[in-house]
Amino acid sequence: MNDVLRAILIRADLPDAQLFAAHEVARWPEGALEWLTEAGILSEAEPAEETLCDECEEGCSIKPAIREDPQTRQRVGTYFCHRNEDIGPFKVDLSRKRRWTFSLVGLAKAVSKAVKPTGKVAELVSKRLVLLGIIKLDGKNRELFLARGAAWQDAAQVFGNCVRLKMASHPAVLTLAAMPKAPLLAGCELAVRPLVEIASVHKGKLTMTLDGAFPEVEPGPWADIPNEPITLDQFMVKFCEEHKGTYIAARRRGLLAADRNETLKLPQHVEPWTSGQAKRYFTHDLLDAWESYVDRSLVPPLLAQYRTKVL
Ligand SMILES: [Zn+2]
Repeated sequence: MNDVLRAILIRADLPDAQLFAAHEVARWPEGALEWLTEAGILSEAEPAEETLCDECEEGCSIKPAIREDPQTRQRVGTYFCHRNEDIGPFKVDLSRKRRWTFSLVGLAKAVSKAVKPTGKVAELVSKRLVLLGIIKLDGKNRELFLARGAAWQDAAQVFGNCVRLKMASHPAVLTLAAMPKAPLLAGCELAVRPLVEIASVHKGKLTMTLDGAFPEVEPGPWADIPNEPITLDQFMVKFCEEHKGTYIAARRRGLLAADRNETLKLPQHVEPWTSGQAKRYFTHDLLDAWESYVDRSLVPPLLAQYRTKVL
């Protein structure tokens, strides 16, 4: 069973490889498919159009013709082998077209059952990222995520644009099998561990130990400040020395003009953004960039406790 779970996690972490055909499933130990479908990790998908031929050594790919047997009223499939077209037709068991698809949310629920986080399982990016909830890890509260395709080419874009992941204060990310090839969030080190290395099936239950499973990551300088989306005005009120409304409005206009003239670059704003509303940025991104704006006399300085540079 553990070999099957391992194979599924590795396969499902490849692009376009989340379907398991009847001939593969047939090689699994007895009860494996039932366990996986009951756990919600696999579910039956639309049957395949093609299956494999039994009549030649090559096992050619065939698309059976389906008709109803007039006597038994059973649906039967018949086909001709591509290698020996002069003989046949052959009958094929239509159950061989059955196939099963991997479900990330199903797996997330199974993991959630095993590690019991607080909060509900929430799919953040379809088939790619799920928030499992908050768990206590090594004595600290961590937000636990499950990611599929962390090593795919689009990973930085898919995960980097997830507001909820960016806002997480102490995230721990389980990937299915592969480690990310580049940081999932630009400029931020995340604690990541492949599930395939720590999960196993024991007495019919998915089990894993998360304590000690994640590498220690250096918390960023702002780890204790919530990384909330914030407008420039709100940011200045909260983090800067001068708060007067007219002053802040003028500084904001100056900053936006400099961004338009490309004399400086504001961080990427938080999507979605509605025209007419003030753009919002991630608090940590602004904290990172602010001192460079201060150096150019565009904005008021940060309150002393938020300065990283020793003055
Ligand atoms: Zn054949």
